[in-house]
Amino acid sequence: MLNRVRVITLNAALGPLDYRLPDGVEAPPGTMVQVPLGPRQLTGVVWEPERVPTEEVGDNRLRPILGVIDVPPLSAPLRRLAEWTATYYCSPIAAVLRMMLPSAAFASPRQLIEYRATGLEPPRMTPQRTKALAAIEGRQGSVRELAAHAGVSDGVVRGLVNAGALEPVEVDADAPFPRPDPDHASVELREEQAVAAAKLREAIGGGFNPILLDGVTGSGKTEVYFEALAEALRQGKQVLVLLPEIALTEPFLNRFEKRFGCAPVAWHSDLRASERRRAWRAIAEGTAKVVVGARSSLFLPYRDLGLIIVDEAHETSFKQEEGVQYHARDVAVMRGHFEEFPVVLASATPAIETKHMVEIGRYDEVKLTERHAEAEMPELHALDLTQDPPLRGKWLAPTLVRELETNIEAGEQSLLFLNRRGFAPLTLCRNCGHRFQCPNCTAWMVEHRLLARLACHHCGHVMPPPEKCPECGEEDSLVACGPGVERIADEVAALFPEAKVAVVTSDTIWSPARAAEFVRAMEAGEIDIVVGTQLVTKGYHFPNLTLVGVVDADLGLQGGDLRAAERTFQQVSQVAGRAGRGDKPGRVFIQTHEPDHPVMEALVSGDGPAFFEAETEARRVAAMPPFGRLAAIIISSEDEEAAKLIAHQLGRARPEMEGVAIYGPAPAPLAMLRGRHRQRLLVHAERRVDVQGAIRDWLAKVDWPAKVRVTVDVDPYSF
Ligand code: ADP
Ligand code: ZN
Repeated sequence: MLNRVRVITLNAALGPLDYRLPDGVEAPPGTMVQVPLGPRQLTGVVWEPERVPTEEVGDNRLRPILGVIDVPPLSAPLRRLAEWTATYYCSPIAAVLRMMLPSAAFASPRQLIEYRATGLEPPRMTPQRTKALAAIEGRQGSVRELAAHAGVSDGVVRGLVNAGALEPVEVDADAPFPRPDPDHASVELREEQAVAAAKLREAIGGGFNPILLDGVTGSGKTEVYFEALAEALRQGKQVLVLLPEIALTEPFLNRFEKRFGCAPVAWHSDLRASERRRAWRAIAEGTAKVVVGARSSLFLPYRDLGLIIVDEAHETSFKQEEGVQYHARDVAVMRGHFEEFPVVLASATPAIETKHMVEIGRYDEVKLTERHAEAEMPELHALDLTQDPPLRGKWLAPTLVRELETNIEAGEQSLLFLNRRGFAPLTLCRNCGHRFQCPNCTAWMVEHRLLARLACHHCGHVMPPPEKCPECGEEDSLVACGPGVERIADEVAALFPEAKVAVVTSDTIWSPARAAEFVRAMEAGEIDIVVGTQLVTKGYHFPNLTLVGVVDADLGLQGGDLRAAERTFQQVSQVAGRAGRGDKPGRVFIQTHEPDHPVMEALVSGDGPAFFEAETEARRVAAMPPFGRLAAIIISSEDEEAAKLIAHQLGRARPEMEGVAIYGPAPAPLAMLRGRHRQRLLVHAERRVDVQGAIRDWLAKVDWPAKVRVTVDVDPYSF
């Protein structure tokens, strides 16, 4: 009897493959192995054969595995999570495994050399060297990482090493992480907080239990969930804290360190290869006790996870929009289910989906209703732009300008929120009407003055700022249309030349280090007015920030998205929550053309619950999520006709099922993206329908040419 194993490789294009296990080698399910395929070597995971059927291959045709990789095996619950995620999001298991086993994590060596600046000036400077040294300052990394970061060739970095401007540093990628101490410095909790903390603590070690921690901004949700985290540490468990943005990592690390005596392990896209390996191993071996990260940290193979906290759980950035289009909040709950531990969803403005789960008794709820200490909830006012219009070509209403002035005189800080990066969302020619559009996407090119270019926010295509109209050749006819944060910052600077203004977007804060610098400058009072996108709406706690202006509250309501009103309510509540967190009261001005819109009325009156009830009812009536199911099927190709042809074939092959309606095909809302033409079919089904199963059978009815790609977006956010 031959020893066979079934292996799922990390190559998403391949199905499961069978191999022979050489005598004396053990490889139970979950073991990572190297296997041959033709002339290639692939990495894969041994799986239970009965769970992943494949064509049987005769014993005599089996090739032996090449070897076992020395990392802890994937546990059975984690294998079930991989299967569930793949099935639910209509994706190959291999694509999920790649998130659990990022190759950089175990493929990089244990001992390696990195480089950092010595501060010595090389004898010969070139423009490339100057550029590289400026970018490398304060960083460390391999030659390739530093070169990539600085945007120069490896040769330039090697030249700097030889010239003595960079020195080698030996790195031990397996150095242990310090252990957070649950009793390092606990704070005294208010009564309401103590009750909440006790409920969360009780859940630790008690099996699966999803809990919504619903508390107004500034009520101390972090302090409360820290108590649950401390309890998990006392029980020897690992804890994962999911944050919606990597920019929030740095302030979180500081706060965590104050409470637990050392920083947690951070996992995000900005890690160096050595850091990635170190963190991944420690996570898999169980020595990384607390991990904080963006959504990708959810799939890592923790050895003994005992709690996941999803902070700002309503945030849309938890939804992945490429590859496996999963929602980290929902997968976190599933992980808690398979591994039997509690999951805490913290939010001041929980999603309708989450509230619904509380209502039907699937999730528990813990509430915090008051702000901490002397801090009061800020006062919200709607500014009717039709009554109080800004000056021609300006964007701030006179009332808001006066409030800014008052705040500057009082030495207090202000925040202007506009969810639009850059200077202007559209550039057009006054002479011929030409508009600058991305050549690869159905989108305008956004002007970025700080970076001196036009950029497409969908594909990253950039062009230098145009000097004349490419259509009619006119030189002085180009105008910027509409505001972005940079334009608002210009307006503020012109009004208050003495004021210190900072623009905060992903263009200016792209790494945890930049976020740390922003926090420092705010705390030191080096900034009077922040103009920022949604990046500044959450997490931050600046006691001297007392005024918030929402530049265009109507922006998110356009476009007819299912969640438009809900999201506007969440976003404005979040940004309003930045005001008056210290002992000085906060005030918030919301600029709108529709002060009578239910969202604006709910914000101003503070009656969030009534608004959510009305929204929920509207969804119930329309059988929209969470009361019904939605999935978008996107068919894309560089060849527009091919995409249309296949979309229509698929449309004709649509399943006739009760409780299922299928709309389309029609051009997707972003009809072209990254040079691919996109057609969409939308599936709307009753809750009881197995939508994924129906879609799987349906997609199999069409022959897919190589140049046409299909992606399925289950529970889509934009459709
Ligand atoms: P939330 O996450 O609900 O917006 P935070 O946890 O950030 O609120 O708390 C707001 C501020 O109040 C933070 O500076 C926090 O340290 C402080 N705070 C909250 N609860 C306490 C407490 N019991 N003792 C001392 N400070 C507290
Ligand atoms: Zn583009």
